Amino acid sequence: MTAAPVTVRVPAKVNVQLAVGGLRPDGFHDLANVFLAVGLYDEITATPSDRLRITVSGPDAHQVPLDESNLAARAALALAARHGVEPRVHLHIAKDIPVAGGMAGGSADGAGALLACDTLWDTGATRDELLAICAELGSDVPFSLVGGAALGRGRGELLEPLETGGVLHWVFAVADGGLSTPAVYRECDRLREAAGTGSSAADVPEPAPSGDLLRALRTGDPGALAAVLANDLQPAAISLRPSLAETLRAGSEGGALAALVSGSGPTCAFLAKDPEAAEGVAEALLRSATCRAVRVTSGPVPGATVLR
Ligand code: ATP
Repeated sequence: MTAAPVTVRVPAKVNVQLAVGGLRPDGFHDLANVFLAVGLYDEITATPSDRLRITVSGPDAHQVPLDESNLAARAALALAARHGVEPRVHLHIAKDIPVAGGMAGGSADGAGALLACDTLWDTGATRDELLAICAELGSDVPFSLVGGAALGRGRGELLEPLETGGVLHWVFAVADGGLSTPAVYRECDRLREAAGTGSSAADVPEPAPSGDLLRALRTGDPGALAAVLANDLQPAAISLRPSLAETLRAGSEGGALAALVSGSGPTCAFLAKDPEAAEGVAEALLRSATCRAVRVTSGPVPGATVLR
């Protein structure tokens, strides 16, 4: 008998704080990264097949690799190797998270494929084992599995769940084309050098989570959170894509409590007071014609979840 397909739904993330330390000798940056999972989702369906195969649907599908560089394929291969299973699976990704948008879409697919294959193959892996595989796949992947809100340290992969109070309302402005995350980090280093502060781990203060921000998340007060949202990669993303400044301005003028670049961009995130204010921000962004698409949603939401 062939096992029934398994579908897993995985959310995108926004970084409500992204503090970037100096460049380490190994080429990475230490981070203090406060993640919030928001209600934009990819769905990954795992079906038994004669070989590992990836297909993708959705408006950005043509930008997603179909070979073994796809994080979903890498997740399936990693799990199969550990459990002595043949990776004979067809992974279909129904992609709604913007590609290369700073919302961890690829990481979401990695975590989703891992959970889908684990369910399909009934490997009996523990949650800690799944999290360890996620951390090997990439620094944002463990959070995609866990969801909610969490503080990421190290490269972002050492996760501590955070308490949140209430629902936060967000609007996302999706840009035309993506930004390469490594290119944005390089630009961040270059801007630090140009400013004369230096870019190495010895020059830049150790990144730390903001106490005010963690408090604002705990109380769920959007006004308090808006005052402390921070992304150290924002100047670099704007330097590489100057038009993002106009998108941020359009959303702020449309009534957002705060506007910031999401992660490495180019998606821009806007925090709104309530659902009505979020609709107002979305309309202002659409009128401004400074982005390709606008999405209204909320968070926190749960991480990767098996649907069937
Ligand atoms: P992050 O926010 O984690 O920095 P991102 O949202 O900016 O990431 P992704 O959508 O994860 O960017 O895509 C980054 C690159 O990863 C893509 O350009 C693509 O080449 C590659 N990639 C590998 N697997 C996937 C996948 N399943 N979906 C999307 N991109 C993938």
